[in-house]
Amino acid sequence: MAWDFSTEPEFQEKLDWAATFVREEVEPIDLVWPAPMNYQPLTPERRKIVEPLKQAVRDQGLWAAHLGPELGGKGYGQLKLALLNEILGRSSWAPVIFGTQAPDTGNAEIIAHFGTPEQKRRYLEPLLAGEIFSCYSMTEPQAGADPAQFTTRAVRDGDHWVINGWKFFSSNARWAEFLIVMAVTNPEAGPYRGMSMFLLPRDTPGVEIVRNVGLMFEPAEDGSHALIHYDNVRVPADSLLGEEGGAFAVAQTRLGGGRVHHAMRTVGLAQRALDMLCERALSRQTKGSALADKQKVQEYVADSYAQLRQFRLFVLNVAWQIDQYNDYRRVRKDIAAIKALTPAVLHDIVQRAIQVHGALGVSNELPLAHMWVTAPVLGLADGPTEVHKVTVAREVLKGYRPSESLWPSEHIPTRLAEAKAKLELEVGSL
Ligand SMILES: Cc1cc2nc3c(=O)[nH]c(=O)nc-3n(C[C@H](O)[C@H](O)[C@H](O)COP(=O)(O)OP(=O)(O)OC[C@H]3O[C@@H](n4cnc5c(N)ncnc54)[C@H](O)[C@@H]3O)c2cc1C
Repeated sequence: MAWDFSTEPEFQEKLDWAATFVREEVEPIDLVWPAPMNYQPLTPERRKIVEPLKQAVRDQGLWAAHLGPELGGKGYGQLKLALLNEILGRSSWAPVIFGTQAPDTGNAEIIAHFGTPEQKRRYLEPLLAGEIFSCYSMTEPQAGADPAQFTTRAVRDGDHWVINGWKFFSSNARWAEFLIVMAVTNPEAGPYRGMSMFLLPRDTPGVEIVRNVGLMFEPAEDGSHALIHYDNVRVPADSLLGEEGGAFAVAQTRLGGGRVHHAMRTVGLAQRALDMLCERALSRQTKGSALADKQKVQEYVADSYAQLRQFRLFVLNVAWQIDQYNDYRRVRKDIAAIKALTPAVLHDIVQRAIQVHGALGVSNELPLAHMWVTAPVLGLADGPTEVHKVTVAREVLKGYRPSESLWPSEHIPTRLAEAKAKLELEVGSL
């Protein structure tokens, strides 16, 4: 019977190595050079520390573990990757040091699928080597969740395209070597066939970063999410990534795996919050006993533990399904479901951990405030929770039909009458 929750011993050894390595070698870097410094090009000082760590990851065969062998990875598949991401999710630098950071993983995936040989040589190779960062520029100031409202326009002019428009929340644009930009190329064809993807160097004339928007509590004007004005940006015809009109197919390629990666990194982050909750519950005394002895706090521990175990198993099952079917569309419902659960699970557990820490919990002396802000961020990045729930509901409802009569099919009087009729036929009067 194939129903197995164990990890093969050789890979478990690698996971154990990664857990110790992240805790002992990477987490100190999180403290000295906090996010978003993990996305900045390395200074000579940081390179001296970070490069040997990346090399140690390579030596373990864990570098860029999301990639298949054709791109220089080991082809571990989504399930093993998920177990690794759980470890990496505890630290902001760990994904960069293991070569699996968003949005670069998704961007690499689409260049690998749709890029020309020249695009692969110029952008994919250094991206996979961890030498450069990239940016995905799709959301616009007036529209995010509804791509039908995107207006950034690319017009063909001889052997060039000219791009005009505005993009919002283009993460890491300020540090990216190149941008992947979605633009309308044929307004007549409608949103699903009328948009195309372009790949261009960030320093192309006309690419103007107007502001670098920060997340809550980040200093003004020093964030990582750019408002970009594409002002008559002229790029050669071969800047097209994929087919003309094929932007949606390209966009879908990058999102399926990325959502599982986010979800499993969140498991690791939420586990860290739960660890903090438990330690504090055992350490703090009030009214004659430890917080851990109070029933309400025990409820926090139990609810958090159960919620996290449930979520972890669900995410691992989704990763397993992707490995089994090798078809993201077939797993679409469950990918959307874990995407919708991700912010809620993190929010609930971090909220309880904050509460149990009292004033210290809301201070800037613990990582909890940062984790707490991450929850609403995860409810928006890669699409709002509501939209993913719509996908789940639509997919679930495909498995049902309306009742054929006035009463629901579980209506007891109707079923009883049917049951009596059936049994009377078999045993006589009832
Ligand atoms: C940290 C972070 C990083 C990001 N990085 C990038 C990036 O690198 N590149 C990029 O292009 N974008 C990026 N985004 C943008 C992200 O993709 C959008 O925020 C997201 O798609 C939602 O778009 P919006 O913000 O315009 O919200 P809107 O589309 O205006 O939606 C606002 C709210 O309206 C409701 N809503 C919207 N649609 C529906 C619906 N169909 N049914 C019910 N309710 C609905 C929801 O409550 C939703 O939260 C990032 C966002 C965040 C927070």
